[in-house]
Amino acid sequence: MIDEKLTGVFAEVVRRNPGEPEFHQAVREVLESLGPVLAKNPDLAEYKVIERLCEPERQIIFRVPWQDDSGEIHINRAFRVEFNSALGPYKGGLRFHPSVNLGTIKFLGFEQTFKNALTGMPLGGAKGGADFDPKGRSENEIMRFCQSLMTELYRHLGEYTDVPAGDIGVGTREIGYLFGQYKRITNRYESGVLTGKGVEWSGALVRTEATGYGTVYFVREMLAARGETLDGKVCVVSGAGNVAVHAVEKLVELGAKVVACSDSTGFVVDEKGIDIELLKTVKLHERGRLCDYAERRPDAVYRDRGSVWEVPCDVALPCATQNELTGRDAATLLRNGCIAVAEGANMPTTPEAARMFQEAGIAFGPGKAANAGGVATSALEMQQNASRDSWSFEYTEARLAEIMARIHETCFMTAEEYGAPGNYVVGANIASFLKVSRAMVALGLV
Ligand code: NDP
Repeated sequence: MIDEKLTGVFAEVVRRNPGEPEFHQAVREVLESLGPVLAKNPDLAEYKVIERLCEPERQIIFRVPWQDDSGEIHINRAFRVEFNSALGPYKGGLRFHPSVNLGTIKFLGFEQTFKNALTGMPLGGAKGGADFDPKGRSENEIMRFCQSLMTELYRHLGEYTDVPAGDIGVGTREIGYLFGQYKRITNRYESGVLTGKGVEWSGALVRTEATGYGTVYFVREMLAARGETLDGKVCVVSGAGNVAVHAVEKLVELGAKVVACSDSTGFVVDEKGIDIELLKTVKLHERGRLCDYAERRPDAVYRDRGSVWEVPCDVALPCATQNELTGRDAATLLRNGCIAVAEGANMPTTPEAARMFQEAGIAFGPGKAANAGGVATSALEMQQNASRDSWSFEYTEARLAEIMARIHETCFMTAEEYGAPGNYVVGANIASFLKVSRAMVALGLV
């Protein structure tokens, strides 16, 4: 429930941003936690901090014309929503997916502002992307699209201004083409302008793995707080992209058994435990489908109907996309004895499902805390770029693990302080809100 002092703020967000249900959902989830904060900090209401936080500082929408291999011209629409720069330069990924619209990018930018604050790094919040579908496009088409997009976007970027990274549909390959075009237009090798770069050309080790690994580290902390470990736990992960595959990898490394994962066309159940090398080959290198995985693994079963959440598990990690885990899925997971859920994706759990997990008292890690390892490692990449240094895998991963433990601790302690012990949603929302809002007050009315 939204505190009565904030119902007017939320009504205004809905009125000013019509037809953007995901943005409304993300704002509502944060506002629902903030009642007790306003009671303790009445000056924040006076400074209209919440109203300012709900309005992006800048929204950029532009046309991206490009030509396919047969010479046909296509027009896409791209966005960059620079949400909040109170704590540092705008920072957040770019998403290429046909479903992308302004509301999607706003919800992601809003979430990103709080997530980045939780990392403790000097990062503002932003998000961007385009309604471009990379599926089935050739290398040259992807390159031409990235070059056309950057031809407009470059003027809004800079290592002290706005620093994009990857997200759905944007990995190291796309970041490479985007960086190449930025360099060409500006005549500057400005490494810190993008993160998620290839390790051969000023990228950082562990950035690729960081979001998935970090999510698993967060689960490890949540379980430890309850006297449990990952050893022997049966896990289900949704998605089979960057976040999901690296979550599977780290779960297996820490002694868990992953029995299922999914992609946009179906899911695979592998009772013997997902073969991580085969999964990487099929999904990351060949850019294939999970049915190809099942064909090469005699005991695995591929299903194109039903939900991956029907597979019984102790730990569930939604790592695909927003609102993919519904109230019905939550009921199934709880019935099957699931004890922990952590959001590797952004807002993958519907409000109803999130409420059910919290009411059931299982460990539930919201995305802005659980998947913050990606952006935190981006900040480590920026540090290495600024100092012309490059750190080892082991050192960087140890930093990531430390950061995830600190984020867990912050959420845990804040939830206790505000009378909601064990509720990481409340802890993450309040801790990050206080961090951003104090900076906003200190910087004056800007
Ligand atoms: P990828 O594009 O690498 O992978 C996305 C995966 O999710 C793919 O397996 C894709 O299926 C599947 N998927 C996408 N859309 C849908 C859909 N509508 N229904 C079912 N499955 C779908 O993206 P990432 O792994 O980078 O991102 C996944 C999530 O993690 C997103 O919510 C993103 O915002 C979040 N995130 C990512 C970070 C990062 O560092 N990359 C950082 C923090 C959060 P298919 O293989 O068939 O395309």
